[in-house]
Amino acid sequence: MLTNILSANDRLAEENRRRFDERGYTVVNLMGSPGAGKTSLILRTIAALRDRVPVAVIEGDIASRIDADDVAAVGAPVVQINTGGTCHLDANMVSQAAAGLTAEPGSLVFIENVGNLVCPASYRLGEHIRAVVLGATEGSDKPFKYPKMFVDIDVVVVNKLDLAGAVDFEREEFIRGVRALTEAEIIEVSCRTGEGIDAWTRWLTEHLARAVERGA
Ligand code: MG
Ligand code: ZN
Repeated sequence: MLTNILSANDRLAEENRRRFDERGYTVVNLMGSPGAGKTSLILRTIAALRDRVPVAVIEGDIASRIDADDVAAVGAPVVQINTGGTCHLDANMVSQAAAGLTAEPGSLVFIENVGNLVCPASYRLGEHIRAVVLGATEGSDKPFKYPKMFVDIDVVVVNKLDLAGAVDFEREEFIRGVRALTEAEIIEVSCRTGEGIDAWTRWLTEHLARAVERGA
């Protein structure tokens, strides 16, 4: 039964992907725990890429428009999905939300998934880039405890670098855990101080260029 649900979801995700490609969007499925800094990373990215790359956001939350309001406040196109209890986004929710998104062609589009390190990993949304953000405050054991989130990921962002010392974040252990599962890029940032945001936006824009070539 779950297999059927997932394969139906995969078909719809492929449709989403075709529509995104038609508009030249590069779409990032941004996953991570509640409080890891998904919205903060999006807001930092919008500020860093301002005047270079248009950024739009599909916000996923169980309830509220808090994150969508924060994105709208900095002038980026945004639509909010409220799942009403479901702990992940699926391709159907994204299909409906994307229809209401007024993003320029060529935009970088973030889909901020529901805060959760478990089932978002199983639902394709039509994204080009799968990203997970973790706060150093969450500890170094997450790749060991939630391996599925890391096996098929393009980039791992470690946030809250400014707090890593205070919480005794075991960086080597974390990297060892990630490397056992994936060769994905690992980028360390602090959304609070801005440290590492350049490396993140450089990585993103390199991948953006490739997506635009693909669509051309
Ligand atoms: Mg958020
Ligand atoms: Zn779920």
